[in-house]
Amino acid sequence: MIFMENDRPSVSVGTPEKGKLINGKRLPTRGGNFKAYSFLGAALGRSATHHRVRDLILDNYRIVQMEFSGTYFVYGEIGWPKGGPFYPHRTHQNGLAVDFMVPVLNRDGKSVPIPTSIFNRFGYGLEFDRKGKSGDLTIDFDAMAAHLFYLLQKCPQYGIRIDRILFDPHLQSHLLDAPYGKKIKGRIRFNQRPAWVRHDDHYHVIFSISDKHLTTP
Ligand SMILES: [Zn+2]
Repeated sequence: MIFMENDRPSVSVGTPEKGKLINGKRLPTRGGNFKAYSFLGAALGRSATHHRVRDLILDNYRIVQMEFSGTYFVYGEIGWPKGGPFYPHRTHQNGLAVDFMVPVLNRDGKSVPIPTSIFNRFGYGLEFDRKGKSGDLTIDFDAMAAHLFYLLQKCPQYGIRIDRILFDPHLQSHLLDAPYGKKIKGRIRFNQRPAWVRHDDHYHVIFSISDKHLTTP
């Protein structure tokens, strides 16, 4: 479906709560170390974002792979190519809110793509306890923190800022205690209270775009 897109730059209008996206761009359904939460969801066009956010996300996956070569990442829902209401989410309207599924380790401590199928609502139905465990799976907090750390590092180059991240408050301390977590502590604003929907299986990142954030690397 990506081949049907035009080359014109994206424009995000309004806010994630009430907005739209002009010339939205879809993320590829898979790459070396990542894939979409649902091939169908992505094929339907539920993974469209602003071109700068797309470029940032893809650049970031490449960088994280250098250090975390065996780690799988799965991204979740983003928004429609034209933005607007995005059932069942309350936000995700202007291409600047992106759900990333948590990276997970299996019983042997090996990274595996988080299981996403129609039976667990494409990963959104998984429930992790306060230590970040769900059955045989454990959240790979260090890989998640590294993913965020390198996003922070790369943001200025794309004129992007991370405004806020929604993630389960009980799990935030595990994230910030991980080796890479210490590097992002105090640099990212997290929700203090639980959000309206559980955020234990994914983290919802709200970006903002402005040429004021642009710096040359
Ligand atoms: Zn979300």
